Amino acid sequence: MPLCVGVRVSWLRFEFIFLVAPSFSMNSVSRLFFLLPACMLLLAACSNQSQDVRESRFIMGTLVQFTISGVEEGMALEAIRAAAAEMQRIEDVFTIYGTQANAVKAFNASVPGEVVALPGEVDSLLKTSIEVAQQSGDAFTPVIGSLSILWGFSLPEVPVAPPSELDIVTALIGVDTQMLVHESKGWKRLNSQTQLDFGAIAKGYAIDRGIAVLREHGIGNAIVDAGGDLRAIGDHAGKPWRIGLRHPRKEGATLGWFEASGDISIVTSGDYERFFLYQGKRYQHILDPQSGMPAERSSSATVISVANATIADAWSTALFVSGAEGLPLLESRGMQGLLVDADGQMHASKLTILPFHPSAQ
Ligand code: AMP
Ligand code: MG
Repeated sequence: MPLCVGVRVSWLRFEFIFLVAPSFSMNSVSRLFFLLPACMLLLAACSNQSQDVRESRFIMGTLVQFTISGVEEGMALEAIRAAAAEMQRIEDVFTIYGTQANAVKAFNASVPGEVVALPGEVDSLLKTSIEVAQQSGDAFTPVIGSLSILWGFSLPEVPVAPPSELDIVTALIGVDTQMLVHESKGWKRLNSQTQLDFGAIAKGYAIDRGIAVLREHGIGNAIVDAGGDLRAIGDHAGKPWRIGLRHPRKEGATLGWFEASGDISIVTSGDYERFFLYQGKRYQHILDPQSGMPAERSSSATVISVANATIADAWSTALFVSGAEGLPLLESRGMQGLLVDADGQMHASKLTILPFHPSAQ
């Protein structure tokens, strides 16, 4: 893993290398394929040496970059090691992919009506997810598992064609949080098509846990960036962190950059992360729970919130599905959004949480 001694002038994300990176599942050959260019970019970015410690780990199907400022290297590395282990643990607890058993997979395979006990943190994230589903009019929903697996964007083999209409209609029957019942001993589902998928919120939760572990290790100035979803705390040698926001269509270009200090989450859902082209049409991985088809209103939806990357992650998916008309709802919950619609038009909340500097397009 590259250890970089950071970037004084600017700090940009490099998630643009993950155009088709599947989340929560990737074999070791693919990992190498995605990691190598990332390392080269990181090293290139780190030519401007200062006091930062930077490390990358492959977790949740993406390159997670840890940047720590203002502490001695050994202390920073120890904190990163612990934070990365915690984030890996969260992947293992929540993933619905791969062969390793967990309670979420057990729930998804349970007989309808059977009560399954979920570990405390799964129970808690499920309750949070159901709340966001209700608040977002089901633009985000945690019961999209059957549909996600049917489309297969997160499977090791990227799909080459859309599923049949019949299969989509069948999977859609389960996409309804009313089919989840909470009982004293756990949760049951009423329909076999109702399957959990935490893919739109678990990364944010892992980032929050990663930040919590860094803090437990005495770190006050850091960024945890999981391939487009990040939380920044403290500052960068007394100045705000500078965080570039990638352009959804121009590879290597930015829409602009943020100045973040204190405790800020910036989370983006984009159609460039995992997609395939079929008969000239682009099919991407964020699904519209109404139609069962890839959501078509947006190409990139960014949510900015104070602290909480978990909620920002869920809402970035909701905003992507809703498109620009979802911005007032987001704002009413104390967050702000920046959306590039399917026609390339930018729509933004009045950005008061943190300054944004648009790039000249
Ligand atoms: P994100 O990149 O945070 O927007 O999350 C996208 C992932 O969440 C997908 O790969 C699916 O696993 C899952 N997902 C797709 N559409 C939705 C949706 N409308 N609500 C909740 N999860 C979704
Ligand atoms: Mg999300």
